[in-house]
Amino acid sequence: SQAISDVGWRRFLNMLAYKAKLYDKEFITIDPKYTTQRCHQCGTIMGQNGCRKLKLKDREWTCPMCQTYHIRDWNAAVNILEKGLGSWQNPKKQVA
Ligand SMILES: [Zn+2]
Repeated sequence: SQAISDVGWRRFLNMLAYKAKLYDKEFITIDPKYTTQRCHQCGTIMGQNGCRKLKLKDREWTCPMCQTYHIRDWNAAVNILEKGLGSWQNPKKQVA
């Protein structure tokens, strides 16, 4: 978030990296692009192809393509995980 200063954020990431190393865990960062706007179920990206872009006040939303109901932060967390695991696809194979 822009509310978090870059310096504060960098310090926080350094702390996470330190802790990960301490416990023999892998620490990676990802490009946050589209992590909020993408439906993790079908891969549709809001704000593209005529889909209304989500605003900050949209805490919950329903995907216009696959009708999946999303809690904004939960959906973003799944997208971040997919990016980290390398399983991110745009768009995903058509779901039934
Ligand atoms: Zn969808």
